[in-house]
Amino acid sequence: MINSTVTAPERASLLQIDSQRFQERFDRQPFLVRHRLDDHPLFSLPRLIELARALPEDQVEYNAGDVPVSLDPTRTPRTGLSIDETIRRIEECRSWMVFKNVERDPAYAALLDTCLPVRGSRGFAYAEVTAGGVPLDQVDSATMESRLCPGLYFAGEILDVDGRLGGFNFQWAWSSAWVAASAIGRRLRG
Ligand SMILES: Cc1cc2nc3c(=O)[nH]c(=O)nc-3n(C[C@H](O)[C@H](O)[C@H](O)COP(=O)(O)OP(=O)(O)OC[C@H]3O[C@@H](n4cnc5c(N)ncnc54)[C@H](O)[C@@H]3O)c2cc1C
Repeated sequence: MINSTVTAPERASLLQIDSQRFQERFDRQPFLVRHRLDDHPLFSLPRLIELARALPEDQVEYNAGDVPVSLDPTRTPRTGLSIDETIRRIEECRSWMVFKNVERDPAYAALLDTCLPVRGSRGFAYAEVTAGGVPLDQVDSATMESRLCPGLYFAGEILDVDGRLGGFNFQWAWSSAWVAASAIGRRLRG
């Protein structure tokens, strides 16, 4: 298994991305990525089948190949085969597959970290959520009232809760605010 002791030259030999081209094109235009992962153990067919079985069904996309890159993924024709069979016969059925959130599997998470190490952030101006805040054990979750300062209520990001992108932080802000506002209402009504 690849781990953090892999040296920079070894890493470079696994994945080569032109960082300027990546910044210019990522998510907008196709660009070339060179890699040496084809004979990596985590890319062997038995291991990919194991991964496909472990991932939730909606995290594995598999469709017939030979379609234009611009085709809407939801309209791509399916192979008509199971995931296992598609992987086993991937050459002859000319399929392509996308595995999403493979970092759920620790071995693939380690490989991702090796190939794409985090070197920094884009700074506060681009930040979408702040970690840290009022510790949850200092708050009554039934009312969002402080256990240290009665009559003080918290909601949202000021608390030590942060979620992945995708609406979880909004949901937390709205739900905790609803709980806090309901409790304040009850308190005011006596
Ligand atoms: C660019 C960006 C994109 C994001 N996208 C997403 C997303 O797609 N999905 C998702 O779930 N979350 C997203 N988030 C996170 C989400 O917006 C926040 O987690 C959420 O809005 C927090 O709600 P809140 O009410 O706790 O705080 P805020 O929305 O920050 O509200 C705090 C309010 O308090 C006011 N305030 C501050 N100090 C004072 C003061 N002294 N007196 C009076 N008022 C004060 C501020 O002006 C602000 O209006 C994003 C955040 C950013 C910055």
